[in-house]
Amino acid sequence: MARKQQYIQIKDLFLKKYANAQTELHYNNIYELLIAVILSAQCTDKRVNIVTPLLFTKYPSTKELSKANIDDLKEIIKSVSFFNNKAKNLILMAQSVESDFNGVIPTNQQDLMKLHGVGQKTANVVLGEFFDMNYMAVDTHVFRVSHRLGLSKSKTALQTETDLTKIFKDNLNLLHQAFVLFGRYECKAVRPQCENCFVKQYCKDSKNFKPQ
Ligand code: SF4
Repeated sequence: MARKQQYIQIKDLFLKKYANAQTELHYNNIYELLIAVILSAQCTDKRVNIVTPLLFTKYPSTKELSKANIDDLKEIIKSVSFFNNKAKNLILMAQSVESDFNGVIPTNQQDLMKLHGVGQKTANVVLGEFFDMNYMAVDTHVFRVSHRLGLSKSKTALQTETDLTKIFKDNLNLLHQAFVLFGRYECKAVRPQCENCFVKQYCKDSKNFKPQ
């Protein structure tokens, strides 16, 4: 079968199986989503969901967060990986939203990426999740799944994002979430559930691919 045809079939299968895929991060608005996504870098969504209720109560908007005492913030998020850096970035992010964007979280990739702690992956996840914008984002799960399925041979997450964007073209935000959920619960890093895999016929290599 031609490779292009395989890509179409893989895309269709994921969009069918994960038609209602949503992030597992808890949030009520774009401010909360942005914070949750920043905290989720190299940390589980479950862990982030444990710390965010208190964080959002104490700092309900960038106005309060921009004036936060860093030690108080660190105390709230101390169980999250890299909490020292993330606490610094959250306060700096809130300060730049207040000073540069009139207290309104930007809603385009270019401006979001001007905020501290917000790279392309974080911006794309927020825009794809909150506005259903057509953006791919490659985390450890998406990287592993796409390499196992032969969709990319690139070494970095950003290059892999470019590969997946070229191959799939649309529904990128849904495919991102689908790959995250498939990688988290089925195509796991260690002991993937290959026997019952719904895309087994397309799998090229079950080794644990990791981005550089
Ligand atoms: S066969 Fe196994 S390694 Fe390959 S995509 Fe399916 S679950 Fe992942």
